[in-house]
Amino acid sequence: MLVILSPDCSVAEVAAVEASITAMGYTPLAVPGENRTAICVTGNKGPVDAGPLRGLPGVVDCIRVTKPYKLVSREVHPADTVITVGRTQIGGDATPVMIAGPCSVETEARTLRIAEAVKAAGATMFRAGAFKPRTSPYDFQGLGVEALHTLRQVREQFELPIVSEIVDASHLEQMIDTVDVLQVGARNMQNFALLQRLADQPRPVLLKRGAAATLTEWLMAAEYLLAGGKRDVILCERGIRSFSDHSRNTLDLNVVPVVRQMSHLPILVDPSHGTGRRERVRAMARAGIAAGAQGLLVEAHFDPASSYTDAAQTVSDEVLKGISADLGVLAGLGSIE
Ligand code: PEP
Ligand code: MN
Repeated sequence: MLVILSPDCSVAEVAAVEASITAMGYTPLAVPGENRTAICVTGNKGPVDAGPLRGLPGVVDCIRVTKPYKLVSREVHPADTVITVGRTQIGGDATPVMIAGPCSVETEARTLRIAEAVKAAGATMFRAGAFKPRTSPYDFQGLGVEALHTLRQVREQFELPIVSEIVDASHLEQMIDTVDVLQVGARNMQNFALLQRLADQPRPVLLKRGAAATLTEWLMAAEYLLAGGKRDVILCERGIRSFSDHSRNTLDLNVVPVVRQMSHLPILVDPSHGTGRRERVRAMARAGIAAGAQGLLVEAHFDPASSYTDAAQTVSDEVLKGISADLGVLAGLGSIE
């Protein structure tokens, strides 16, 4: 249930509504909005009886929320969420963002060279993993703390905000000063302890879809972040597991317009993990933006074949330039109604 208060309601009226919701055994959560004051009732197992709330001073409406996710839904928050990171805006009608970089942070010299190349190709944010979640314990696990030092150099020299994956809540303290957007990877989408910890820190969170997650499971994972107080959440479709064996994952572009309809959160597409093959990345990047994605996450390198990880799906900075040009063309299509 969403309780709508009049725009000029008093602080005392808001507090009285919250107290009534608490007295009913539920938890009130304020929903920020430009044109209204609203409080979402959470913690209910079945329908909420609006009777005791309707008559309270300041209350103008009580709206039933039909979806299991509340704070991420458009029912509760009709306007698009737009997230500002440095000079870049993500979401709403902002120009689609291109976030690019190598799968893993490499040596400092190589990483700086990649950063220079992706910036010249049009990327406005740099992504690279310091801590890598690898299928095999024998595979390269990322350079860890040394990589964070390198990412700080990238941020300083190229003025690119940094996106990097957090695999364990215990790394937060080390990462928070270096990383502008914390990525939660597909494998951790339902690591609820990690999500709860990330809800209570200042950085935006980029939440990738789990390889076997339904739309509802994904949005419920995002709900953990919003319920914990985090407003700046970016979704990213990166492909799901299907019976297809012609690509690493099946990029589920169907989900993009559905997410745009169901949720106010920005959605990006990752055509790199979504295909696993560099020669298909540009086509699926175009398709993702055409489907309504508000940006891309692309693995790119000045010498893709030598990438420490995910080499087969990493594109050159030349290809990235092409993707950047495509973004300009597709942005001209305008929003999809
Ligand atoms: C990555 O972004 O390099 C990564 C590991 O992605 P995912 O979590 O989507 O597999
Ligand atoms: Mn990767």
